[in-house]
Amino acid sequence: MEETQTVIRDRSLLVVDDVSVRFRGIMALNGVSFDVAPRQIVGLIGPNGAGKTTLFNCLSRLYDCSRGQIFLDGQALLATPRHRIAEVGIGRTFQNLALFRTMTVLDNVLMGRHCRTRSGFLSDGLRMPRVAREERASKDKAFELIAFLDLETVVDRCVSDLPFGTQKRVELARALASEPRLLLLDEPACGLNHEEVNELGDLIQDIRDRLDVTVLLVEHHMSLVMSISDKVVALNFGRKIAEGTPTEVQQHPEVVQAYLGSSH
Ligand code: ATP
Repeated sequence: MEETQTVIRDRSLLVVDDVSVRFRGIMALNGVSFDVAPRQIVGLIGPNGAGKTTLFNCLSRLYDCSRGQIFLDGQALLATPRHRIAEVGIGRTFQNLALFRTMTVLDNVLMGRHCRTRSGFLSDGLRMPRVAREERASKDKAFELIAFLDLETVVDRCVSDLPFGTQKRVELARALASEPRLLLLDEPACGLNHEEVNELGDLIQDIRDRLDVTVLLVEHHMSLVMSISDKVVALNFGRKIAEGTPTEVQQHPEVVQAYLGSSH
């Protein structure tokens, strides 16, 4: 049994193992386990309050787990301090956009590079050659992502002046600037129109295929999740109720029941 678990771990980029989170009387997560293989797109679904954001907050180290373990590429994530999460390879977008609204698109994307630069106060002040090299490399990477996300025409625009759908692409560029191995997308389709949701689906697949990034996607937009996910994990009241292909999960009786009994 132990040998099987080791083999699964070797093949997985992310292992969530028996994770529980308790807030006073509420079990927001209750013994949740699942794996994400490299280059998979995994959809995480569930009605309101199911525990999806709580799980993302554990993966970002914003919340502590009361039980369980999380491994990223074999490394114990819960022993990693919060400020090193981007450095170890986890990028994230947020439900309510985490952008510097008064800054330009380029500067927002450059902010996402921060964890990949080694310059400090002194070396910056002295304009050491390494600093100049790092700055050039960061700008090259930022422009590469700006082109990838079709943001070239707005590169010098202030983020707050841009339409919501464009701001969402800026946030993706910012998250990708840290060169994550695992990208956590928290309701990326929220607030987008039908056409933008279709484009988002293609974009997430491109991120996986062209940038070699594994994706964990929390989303209420079922047709998006079901059309692009290799695997879907369903939560309800903090428990995992189903895991499998999109078709398997969609037809799972507990999933059908959870959604029939909720507002979604
Ligand atoms: P939604 O789809 O509405 O975003 P969700 O699946 O992301 O829901 P969570 O936000 O993870 O669900 O919430 C799971 C449970 O934990 C809920 O009962 C919620 O009220 C509770 N919860 C989440 N964060 C906290 C917190 N910081 N303090 C207390 N309770 C919390």
